[in-house]
Amino acid sequence: MHTKVLSVIAAAMLAGCAGGQSNSSVSEQQNSDTIKFLDAKEKTFDGFTVYWLKDNAADRTFPYDLFGEVPENIRQEVNMPDGMPSSISAYLIKSNGKNILFDSGLGQKAGGQLLNQLQNIGITPENIDYVYITHFHGDHIGGMLDTTGAKVFTNAEVYVSQLEKDSDLGKGEQAVKMFEQYGDKIHVFNFGDKLPEDVLTIDAVGHTPGHTVFQKGNLLIIGDLMHALALQLPHPEFNANFDGDKEKAAASRKRILEYAKQNNLIVCGMHLPY
Ligand SMILES: [Zn+2]
Repeated sequence: MHTKVLSVIAAAMLAGCAGGQSNSSVSEQQNSDTIKFLDAKEKTFDGFTVYWLKDNAADRTFPYDLFGEVPENIRQEVNMPDGMPSSISAYLIKSNGKNILFDSGLGQKAGGQLLNQLQNIGITPENIDYVYITHFHGDHIGGMLDTTGAKVFTNAEVYVSQLEKDSDLGKGEQAVKMFEQYGDKIHVFNFGDKLPEDVLTIDAVGHTPGHTVFQKGNLLIIGDLMHALALQLPHPEFNANFDGDKEKAAASRKRILEYAKQNNLIVCGMHLPY
């Protein structure tokens, strides 16, 4: 079984590599069982470019224990006894001269590397026009404020889900401070709304009450829909302990992976292996 799982992932990665180019040897491997994943630090799509910004400094892996009861046969199938590779990531899209940041990582106080990664591609925090937030956990909104508690993205319009804002997470300390600092620069959206630069907001609730997936063109940014690709791609029924509503999280995971497959989208996420 191990070989089969790896070949599914490898086919998915290869398919991602093809990215719309006509390469018959690769396209033969594309079928309804594969999902394409972003496999480059930078990739240009029709009318925009996406940059994968790794926020974690040290390598990260997730143990099986974080996914409830994973039976021995499935652990053997996945066959990563030292833990499943992961990351903390944010993404930047450049579109029509605008810079859109998707999530903000852990923040400098917690060792987040986002600002260094932005600097590496020639972008300062003042250059960010929009920040679109998938949900309010600390590894996603931690980077919104600096070490003194002041806002980092001084010129940005920030978009958050209404459901997330109305949930307990919206009353959490980090979120409250973010709302204080960004004030009327924060805007709320409902699922199905289109944000500036034609970014669609998609219902992916379960991980948190307002967890959001974003789509621009053929790119799908899945937030925390998956924490361990190696396990949850072949077995989307497994939830991470951090998934607040496990039933809804698994349903969203299955629905959105199917949507990505059917629409031939390229998937990236905040905890996929870099
Ligand atoms: Zn997360």
